[in-house]
Amino acid sequence: MPTSNLCQQQWVLGMNPYAGLVSCLRASWLTGKTRPMEYRVSQLEALGHFLDEKHQSILDALALDMHKPQFEAKLSETVLCKNELNYTLNNLRSWMKDEHVDKNMVTQLDMAFIRKDPYGVVLIIGPWNYPVNLLLVPLIGAIAAGNCVILKPSEISSCVERLMAEMLPSYLDRDCFAVVTGGIEKTTKLLENRFDYIFFTGSTSIGRIVMEAAAEHLTPLTLELGGKNPCYIADDCDLQSVANRLVWGRFFNAGQTCIAPDYVLCTLEMQEKLLPALHRAIADFYGANPQESPDFARIISDKQFQRVQSLMDSGHVAIGGQTDEKERYIAPTVLVDVPMSAPIMQEEIFGPILPIVTVANLEEAIDLINTQKQPLAVYVFSSNKKVVKQVLEQTSSGGFASNDTIIQTTLITLPFGGIGPSGLGKYHGKFSFDTFSHHRTCLMHLMDQEKLNTLCYPPYAQHNPES
Ligand code: NAD
Repeated sequence: MPTSNLCQQQWVLGMNPYAGLVSCLRASWLTGKTRPMEYRVSQLEALGHFLDEKHQSILDALALDMHKPQFEAKLSETVLCKNELNYTLNNLRSWMKDEHVDKNMVTQLDMAFIRKDPYGVVLIIGPWNYPVNLLLVPLIGAIAAGNCVILKPSEISSCVERLMAEMLPSYLDRDCFAVVTGGIEKTTKLLENRFDYIFFTGSTSIGRIVMEAAAEHLTPLTLELGGKNPCYIADDCDLQSVANRLVWGRFFNAGQTCIAPDYVLCTLEMQEKLLPALHRAIADFYGANPQESPDFARIISDKQFQRVQSLMDSGHVAIGGQTDEKERYIAPTVLVDVPMSAPIMQEEIFGPILPIVTVANLEEAIDLINTQKQPLAVYVFSSNKKVVKQVLEQTSSGGFASNDTIIQTTLITLPFGGIGPSGLGKYHGKFSFDTFSHHRTCLMHLMDQEKLNTLCYPPYAQHNPES
């Protein structure tokens, strides 16, 4: 059976193979065992032990799945998970406290507060590009908020999926946490069940399917989706710094990053100056032949390789362009002469190709950004604060960064999420805790003080509502 939970003993095979598992977790949740802070802390600490003790296995699985360089794997997967975990453990007590609020005349003697209640049984569905981080960081928030959780890793990053299914459950309370494996068919079956919250990270098209499944049960959800993140480069920049930061953000994880700069917008003059600097940054980072670099990842699957490779024809190859199907290698590539109608400008690239689209000026760049769907991130490079401010104020996106790329996601104190087609809801740090908590309205009214209540009772002619 594709699960690692003791509850599997109660499974009933049939039309809904996951019903037994979900009801088993719900029964555990109803006992109230996940609510006390001590329990949450114990499970978070156990997750920390998993990350420490299986660290090398995690790095190996990531390398097998996509040749993820060790440094990138640590920086973007295990270190971010540990930071999230430590930050959560340090702040959990204060986050869990009831939030007392101002009161009105009728309730002045009462206690009025917001209780951060667990939702119950949560489903977390992860993608393949950061398969550890994007599964475990939401899990940290869900545990911290006192929920039971079913984790569904991506089947595409199959080594990490196997590791999660085989190793993680032995660290966590098996009555409350389970890992379910499988692809579209199994996830479709899983989604037939009623969950109390769903947290999905993946593509916009599948996000729509997950939202429809959630709507069946009116289940609240978070959608962390994709999109095309524009990067405007003004004429006043330090060229090599821009090139370094752009190349790092675009080619990290071979471009398979949801917040990677997807395309560059700049003037033709800037493009001509930028190309040699990009060339130099690529050579500095990955050597003369990036295929031989231990610091450059591979495309996750043959299907993704074919898709990304086909986008190469969308313009003129100014840098890179080499591919090797056997290794699923696509060189860090820069395309110029790319029209907005080209295929590469119609979909999220999610691979190591950076198209440059030329514009006449800042205003044209902003207009162009605003004709596209709202992305996860908007980037701007400029030494002029007015330019940065103008892009910030005249565009809309999940997040924004000036003079750098992708680094904003490392800040736990900032919410992470999209807007419109790039996502719904936010997480990281306290935002995760709040996402996985129902903010419950609580009023502790007094039994005596009936006189105050009579202020609301009929016959209403006796009251003056404006006084
Ligand atoms: P995907 O949408 O194909 O798959 C995500 C998950 O959904 C996987 O676990 C998969 O098994 C499951 N799934 C696939 N088809 C399904 C279906 N029909 N019904 C139910 N579940 C289904 O995404 P992916 O290819 O794994 O990841 C790449 C996408 O994720 C990109 O679009 C990227 O931008 C996005 N992404 C977003 C973020 C973010 O934080 N916003 C982070 C990483 C990736």
